[in-house]
Amino acid sequence: MTTASLALASAPPSLYAGPMPELPEVEIAARRLDAALAGARVESVLAPGMVALKSVKPPLEALVGLEVSGVRRVGKMPVVEFGPPAERLALLVHMMSAGRLQLFDKRASLRDRASRVLIRLEDGRELRLREFGTKQRAWSKLMAATDVATDEMVATLGPEAWPEPPAEQLAELLAQPRHLHPLLRDQRTIAGIGRSWVDEILWEARLSPFKKGAELDPAEIERLHAALGVLGRAIGHYEEVVGETIPDKMPMPLQVHRREGEPCPRCGEPIAAIHYSDRITCYCPKEQTDGRILADRRLSRLLK
Ligand SMILES: [Zn+2]
Repeated sequence: MTTASLALASAPPSLYAGPMPELPEVEIAARRLDAALAGARVESVLAPGMVALKSVKPPLEALVGLEVSGVRRVGKMPVVEFGPPAERLALLVHMMSAGRLQLFDKRASLRDRASRVLIRLEDGRELRLREFGTKQRAWSKLMAATDVATDEMVATLGPEAWPEPPAEQLAELLAQPRHLHPLLRDQRTIAGIGRSWVDEILWEARLSPFKKGAELDPAEIERLHAALGVLGRAIGHYEEVVGETIPDKMPMPLQVHRREGEPCPRCGEPIAAIHYSDRITCYCPKEQTDGRILADRRLSRLLK
């Protein structure tokens, strides 16, 4: 067994939560919440984070007395639905960088500063939109379930990254003169990928983050298409390791993201990173950029 394959086999999953829950993390959260919440009835509601509820009509109080009918995902957003089909309401949630939608056995202390939206259930449990850190960016909107598809945040989404669109469609979506790293994270192009999984997808595909979408040849499109499979494998991983309760930090099975300096699990060369002021991009220079080490963007900004 080579060093590289040994590293692949024994590397523990990263415990880093990632800057924002992406498609696999939201998918498993939606599945677990769906199983746990189906049929539970809302007793009361509270929105301690004033800015976390962006909608006015219907009011959050409209949920009182309704049963949770299901939890699903669209892009990186969970959707919690309430009530019978004819009058179904949907809470669309955008967790931004630090929000989490979690179910608790007990009610939150009103001193819990992380609470943004609280949905209290008759059985004593509580569904909470929480946000870590001091910034209030996570938001939710309550609307008729039939309006979700036309909400601006949903209507502008590209096709879901998982299950992956056909290779021909992917080629059309990516035929833009933009770098792959921001292009794949653009939810209007393809939905569900963020800063963690884009590194994994590009590493799987052996493509430079600075390759332009429009410059991909058919073999590269095929590799990228196959690489989207990491999302489904991550969901499979979560199905095995995530219990009924969604942890604050997901055990993300990342191979390269935030692994700067560690050996590439495939070739053994050190993983390199490009640091930006607010994020990091990790890649294998040997396999993705013809050996080139890309400039640190914080440094080049200072030198300007
Ligand atoms: Zn490598």
